[in-house]
Amino acid sequence: MGDTALFVHKFDTPFYKGTVTINTGLFINGCWVDPVDKATIDIVNPTTGKVITSVAAGSSKDVDIAVEAAKKAFKTTWGLKCPGNIRGKLLSKLAELMEAQRDEFVSLEALDVGKPWHKANTKDVEISIMNIRYFAGWADKIHGQTIETNENKLAYTRHEPYGVVGQIIPWNFPLMMLTMKCAPALATGNVIVLKPSEITPLTALKFAGLVNEAGFPPGVINIINGYGNTVGEAISHHPLIDKISFTGSTLVGRKILKASAESNLKDVTLELGGKSPTIIFDDADLDQAIKWAAQGIFGNMGQICMAGSRIYVQEGIYEEFLARFTEVAEVLGTAAGDPFAPGTEHGPQASQIQFDRVMAYIDSGKKDGAKVQVGGERHGQEGYFIQPTVFTDCKPEMKMMKEEIFGPVAAVGKFKTEEEVIDIANATMYGLGCNIFTENISRGLRVAHQLEAGSAWVNFAQVASCAVPFGGYKQSGIGRELGQNAIDTYTQVKGVHVNIGLKL
Ligand code: NAD
Repeated sequence: MGDTALFVHKFDTPFYKGTVTINTGLFINGCWVDPVDKATIDIVNPTTGKVITSVAAGSSKDVDIAVEAAKKAFKTTWGLKCPGNIRGKLLSKLAELMEAQRDEFVSLEALDVGKPWHKANTKDVEISIMNIRYFAGWADKIHGQTIETNENKLAYTRHEPYGVVGQIIPWNFPLMMLTMKCAPALATGNVIVLKPSEITPLTALKFAGLVNEAGFPPGVINIINGYGNTVGEAISHHPLIDKISFTGSTLVGRKILKASAESNLKDVTLELGGKSPTIIFDDADLDQAIKWAAQGIFGNMGQICMAGSRIYVQEGIYEEFLARFTEVAEVLGTAAGDPFAPGTEHGPQASQIQFDRVMAYIDSGKKDGAKVQVGGERHGQEGYFIQPTVFTDCKPEMKMMKEEIFGPVAAVGKFKTEEEVIDIANATMYGLGCNIFTENISRGLRVAHQLEAGSAWVNFAQVASCAVPFGGYKQSGIGRELGQNAIDTYTQVKGVHVNIGLKL
């Protein structure tokens, strides 16, 4: 596996029994290497608060080495040198290898992020493999156009890769974010230097361990763990990286854009934070709306960029919704616990920092006069668990209503008319997602079209698809990932003009 330190973990759980071994170094040019500065980062199990292992922490020097290797691979073995059908074949092989070791990926994700095992299985790892397969299929279907101009000229377009793409991802869906970024970048012929979150790098390391076996030439995929202010900044400022794709907070998104402006004007894709509304009309199927609304905010312990954190319910059903929704939150709280225990539906927040941040928002809501219907406290004494929390009596000017909480905290409010709720829902700097519940499909679509968000769900919440573009309006992002749009995101268009008769 290479010379760098290994992390060997024996799982003896009801879901998975077996030993997982991963390399904890940096994966550069097809090899595991130690960082130039020999630094490490402790990785903490959020269920217990105890250190699991430590992994390499890179620096700008390691980024330079990786970019150099990537640049060489782009020129010699990838980019124009590797046809789409081969790129697709290698991605398919990678997906196959992941599928074969699926339980290991699931177990690492559950350990590292605290996701209930069955959810990491059916959501994170399932979707991650699907992302790779989907973009493997695109690799040999990247077409330009021929464009009629005049009889003496032929013009056509080519969709060409950028070259070295920098990718920076967050900790809430570590493997899913990695695959949704690297699969389209590789399918389109780019080479990548990817930084996982310093909080949750384990599945990225497991993934890197399959790259050579899948047959990717050295340097095509480079994975560098490290902190944002070292590796992240080095990637975003690097003059030889021509494109950067970032998923994370709006705060850091601004820094990425600034770094691009200050370095080489690299093309930037940003997937940022959200404060998404869930709107439930009087005529909704209430049973379904309650379940989806709960999943929309409490799923992944609320650590979802498009979490439906502001729930607006039409006045005729408000009381019934609130009573039943509160009960659902309470029941979910009783299913909090060890991600590896059968019956666990609610895990911890992914880190101490995140736990503190969410608790601070809960405290600010209480102080500002919002009313806690249920939850509002930590769960248990160990790890970073927070009870599913429901607030009412929230005012738009409250901190907890303006800012992204990124935890299991719902604010439920009442509205009268369609016009009113559209205005309230749009009164935010964010524009990532929205969920609308009504049995009147005309109204559902009418409202979906008026909400300022990159994704709208009618009668469900947050069931994204790798075939459908995803991204934010307003300060939730720039550009789109997934679907055909991801192919556009990772290619630049060249117009080629050919003289077929024009004489001077
Ligand atoms: P974050 O912005 O703190 O960190 C994201 C990544 O950026 C990490 O890898 C981090 O190390 C790196 N980073 C930090 N500072 C950096 C810098 N100065 N330069 C370069 N890189 C830097 O976000 P997080 O706490 O990891 O994730 C939570 C945020 O991510 C939330 O705001 C959430 O909404 C957002 N998110 C958005 C989407 C989406 O698709 N829109 C998806 C998931 C998460």
